[in-house]
Amino acid sequence: MSSNHLGLRPISAAALSCKICAGPSALYGVVDINRPCEIAGGVQPPLSGVPIYYRRCAACGFLFTDAFDDWSEEQFKTHIYNDGYGVFDPDYQTRRPNNNALTVSGLWGQHKAGMRVLDFGGGNDMFCAALRATGFLEAVTYDPMVPEFARRPHGKFDLVTCFETLEHLPDPLTGIARMVDCIAEPGAVFYSTLTQPVDFDRYGVSWWYVGPRNGHISIFTKQALELAWARHGFRTFALNEGTHLAFRTLPKSWGLVTLQG
Ligand SMILES: [Zn+2]
Repeated sequence: MSSNHLGLRPISAAALSCKICAGPSALYGVVDINRPCEIAGGVQPPLSGVPIYYRRCAACGFLFTDAFDDWSEEQFKTHIYNDGYGVFDPDYQTRRPNNNALTVSGLWGQHKAGMRVLDFGGGNDMFCAALRATGFLEAVTYDPMVPEFARRPHGKFDLVTCFETLEHLPDPLTGIARMVDCIAEPGAVFYSTLTQPVDFDRYGVSWWYVGPRNGHISIFTKQALELAWARHGFRTFALNEGTHLAFRTLPKSWGLVTLQG
């Protein structure tokens, strides 16, 4: 296996433009393509000899690689989201979607009878099925990577959810634009992606959340998230270091006036 054989973009030592803010992004660190996220008790596959270089934006801190920018969805499925993927992301199929459904029911349960929810990038329909089962008016999956859910559902949605997806996208701004296109006004996007800790430079690409084998190729800072959403006039608020709410205007009935500011 080689970078060439895999169709990875050739490595350039020159700085590239940040995918979020166009700031200068020099090479920052390198890991083996087989490196998974460090999840306790996780599997460490053998080194492949294929290097993946990450760059970091000097302006917003966004960490990314352009290595996969020429890959088709088919290549992602062959090399990353293949039969072996579940070993590196054991919660993907069932546990994470069910936990997320509990969280969303806890936050928005009192409005569920009138709420239309769209889940972006969920992969399977587990999360939405759980919401429908608990009485949400509508909950539909939209995932451009999965043929059965690749068509954009019709209309606008009060709540768009997006769990552990942005870090997987080679072009996160396009993903955010797709979500913005689906959101009602007023409405909000409830999403998760872990942002870099303030002392990120101490760890660099050894930070546990960086892992090409898991498809983690776009690692945000809080500032990079703010800039990405601001392109659409959205503000984003971190509910904790991994969970966020983005919106232009919140529905008054949700009672989240303190966020509205
Ligand atoms: Zn940037």
